[in-house]
Order: sequence, then structure tokens, then C-alpha cells
Amino acid sequence: MSKEYAFETLAIHAGQPPDPTTGAVMTPIYQTSTFKQDTVGSHRGYEYARTGNPTRTALESCLAALEGGSHGLAFASGMAATDALFRLLKPGDEVLAVDDLYGGTHRILKHIFEPLGVTLRLVDSQATDLIVHEISETTRMIWVESPTNPKLNLIDLSALAESLSTLSSRPMLCVDNTFATPYLQQPLMLGADVVLHSTTKYLGGHSDIIGGAILCNDNALYDRLAFIQNAVGAIPGPMDCFLVLRGLKTLPVRMDRHASNSEEIASFLLARSEVTDFRYPGHASHPQYELAQRQMRNGGGMMSFIHKGGEAAARSFVESTQLFTLAESLGGVESLIELPAMMTHASTMDTPIAIEPALIRLSVGIEAVEDLIEDLRLAFENS
Ligand code: PLP
Repeated sequence: MSKEYAFETLAIHAGQPPDPTTGAVMTPIYQTSTFKQDTVGSHRGYEYARTGNPTRTALESCLAALEGGSHGLAFASGMAATDALFRLLKPGDEVLAVDDLYGGTHRILKHIFEPLGVTLRLVDSQATDLIVHEISETTRMIWVESPTNPKLNLIDLSALAESLSTLSSRPMLCVDNTFATPYLQQPLMLGADVVLHSTTKYLGGHSDIIGGAILCNDNALYDRLAFIQNAVGAIPGPMDCFLVLRGLKTLPVRMDRHASNSEEIASFLLARSEVTDFRYPGHASHPQYELAQRQMRNGGGMMSFIHKGGEAAARSFVESTQLFTLAESLGGVESLIELPAMMTHASTMDTPIAIEPALIRLSVGIEAVEDLIEDLRLAFENS
């Protein structure tokens, strides 16, 4: 499909022409593990569903179109996609990552890949203009999230890519675009080599699947990652691919609503005496608001703050909301609240990147914003 279509059109149509055999308008769920061969080795593009499945192909094509990439690969989870990328590395290679990153990414590097000889070095997520000076002879991969999880710091992606382009031996720049989604920012267009997603979040959008994806432009890199995808087999089933495809169709309208709700909630929280260190990239109070305006279409639906009352008050607050459900994950239509130090980022406890225990993370959903604000107001009063 032509890349000239607007994002909203691609989200509905890319990779999903009506089914050629029946005319079905929605991509069928090809619930099959294998495909008939007419003669030995002669098939219609599919042999065995670990290697490829038409529902997965539709999802991979749609995601690639949305990120402005040439290639897409879907995985069983965001972590399975992350694992596939780190399998590109060899013993002695180094990953340079920003120090505010998803706990699971830190865990897989520390406990799966470091014992295999890959090293992780962390750089300050507030000083990413320095990344280029941190690169050593063994640095093969740079790993960034923007906005970061859970502190909502931003990385200037085009400035980072630009500074890397001056190096003779350039490490691969990988961007975890889960928080922003391609609707808000397209890292490949800004110079990144690889984009990673947990499709579990905004792309699926309804908290009903676990999935991941990798998008890139380089043919050799794609071939290697497709080899890993098939050899390791951490692939999503066709039903999950269908659900992500269905979620993608409404991604733009959902993201606009997540952002407009978040802007009102930001104003409410900033006026509360219990709130400090409030972070939302779509509000002028964010220290990198100018970068957010330049790099992102809107501020998205993620925000965090520190409860001035400390850990006990933060815990009591997150246990007091009714509409904001106390749960891990993010990016669904429903609002969620959590304490990263004890929940999503518990694996970083006692590490240099441990999260402040009173930090509260909100995933603002698309419910009526007045109901969400009232829920937060009552929780402040009752906690
Ligand atoms: N990247 C980010 C930013 C995440 O928040 C998560 C999960 O929370 C992941 C990656 C991992 O994705 P999954 O849970 O789908 O394996």
C-alpha cells in the first residue's frame, strides 16, 4: 500500500486488503499450524505457521507501514521481541542504555545476557546528549525509551541519531516506542535503526493480549531477525494478531483522547498539594516540553508523580481509586494506576536504577475525564 496515505488510513487498511479467496473485509484469523503443499516445496507462500501465518503477515505489514519502516516482525510479547534483538549480540559486546528503562528490559540484560558475556552500561536519561561520548569500542547497541518508563523523560531522537551518524563504526540505535506509539512519533523516520513495541499496550489498546513487534528498514537486519523469530519460535498466535490489527484501527482516535484526558488530569494533579515531581510530556510544566512539542504529536496518556506523603501515602492512594484500576500494564482504554517500585519495576529494586517508592504511575484511559478526576479527588480525600 502506498505510504502516501495518512496515518489514520494506514491504521485501517495497510496490509489488510479484503481476503482474496472470500472477499472477507476483515483479515481472517488463519487458525492453522500448517499449509498444504501442491507438490514438494511448492506452496502459496506459507508452509508452517511458526515461520509465517497470513494473519501475522497482515499485522507485520500494517505495523511496518505505521512506523514508516520496510519490515515488520511480530512476537509473542514485547520481551520476546527484546530478546530477539539482544540475540544479535555476541560475548564481549556492550549495550548502552538510558538508566530509566522498563524493568523487564533491565532484567533480561542483567540476568540472561550478562551471564552470556554481553555487558550493560547505563547512561543518565537526563543527559542523553552525552551518549555519543560514552560509546566505547565494544558498544554495539544503544537502547532508549522516549518517553521513558516510568519517569517520562524524553530523548531527542533525531539529535541522537545525528550525533551517531558522525561515527565511523556506528552502534545500532534501538528505540522502544511503546509509550509513544507510531501515532505520536516515528523513530525510524528520525534516524533510529530499529523500533521495538510491546503491542500489549496502546497498539492492542484493550488489555486483552500480550504481544511484541520489531520494525526496521535494513534488509540484512530483517533477514537475521526473521531467522531468529523462526528459529526461536516466540511468535504470536493468529487470534492475538487479529486483536492487535483490530486495536490499530482506532489507535489515532484513542491516542487523541488519551492525550486530551491527560491534559485535564495534569492540570488537576498539579494543583494538588500532595503532588510533587509531576511528569507529563504534554504539559508545559515538563522540563522537556519544547522537545515534546517538536518530537511528539501529543503528550500521550502516561504520567507520573511523587506523593509528598511518602511510600505509605502513595500506597494508600493507589489502593483508594475506583475507576483507576490498581494493575500493571498500560495503554488500554481503561485507566490504570500503579507503584512502579513495587510492581512493574520491582526487578530494579536494590539496583542503581531503583525507582523512588512514592512514585505513582498513571495510564490515563479514555473514560469521561470528569469521572476520572473525581475518582482521583476522592482517592486523595480517602487515603
Ligand atoms: N517495553 C516497555 C516500555 C514496557 O512497558 C513493557 C511492558 O510493560 C515491555 C517493553 C515488555 O512488553 P511485554 O509485557 O509485552 O512483554
